[in-house]
This record gives sequence, structure tokens and C-alpha cells, in this order.
Amino acid sequence: MSTSANDVVMCSERVYDKISKGFSQCRYKGKVVRNGKQYCGLHDPVKIEEKDAAKQARWEIEWEADRKKYALRAAGPGLLEACKAALTLHLWEAGAHNQTIIWQIEAAIAKAEGETSETSR
Ligand SMILES: [Zn+2]
Repeated sequence: MSTSANDVVMCSERVYDKISKGFSQCRYKGKVVRNGKQYCGLHDPVKIEEKDAAKQARWEIEWEADRKKYALRAAGPGLLEACKAALTLHLWEAGAHNQTIIWQIEAAIAKAEGETSETSR
């Protein structure tokens, strides 16, 4: 690789060619220098690292959303039983001033048991 002013310095990345089934030098011009090597915009190690970090961050958000979804699903049966127990208690002890929370519990139980708004009262 020459470094004289008139020469175009190519990207130093080695890329796999599906047709020749071998590695060859990237066919794009070097745009940036990283650790003394030229890289095109596609193979710039800094850009690749940034893209990977962004991808990793998106995955972590998705994994966390999935984790919460599965945790809620696993907790569902226990929550349903707790709501039913609480509902019985409140109907006896809380009286009319807690009617809103009783409706919320009844709606949550109905939803958990797969009732639609048409089938529940
Ligand atoms: Zn390249």
C-alpha cells in the first residue's frame, strides 16, 4: 500500500467474496485512519463499535421488557388468588366507601379469567 499523495488508499479491511470464495481487500476508498490503517465508512471500527453498542442497548431494552412480561405472567395465578381473597375480605369489612377498589379488583379478576367487557357485568 503506497502513501504518496496521488495514490488512493483503499480500505484495509479484508472481506469475504462469495463468488471467489476467498478473502480480498475491501474495494472502497479509505476515509478514516484507525491505529494507522485506512478504513472505508462501512468498515470504520469506531462506527462498527457504535452500531454494536446501539444494537446491544436496544436488545437490553427488549430483554428487560420480555423479562417483565414473563415475570407478570408467572405471577398472574398468585395475583388472581390474592385478588379473590382481598375481594372477599373487602366485601365484608370495607363497605361502600371502598367500592371503587372493589370494582378494580373485580375487573382485574374478570380480565385474568378471560372475560370480555361484554360478558362481565
Ligand atoms: Zn471497507
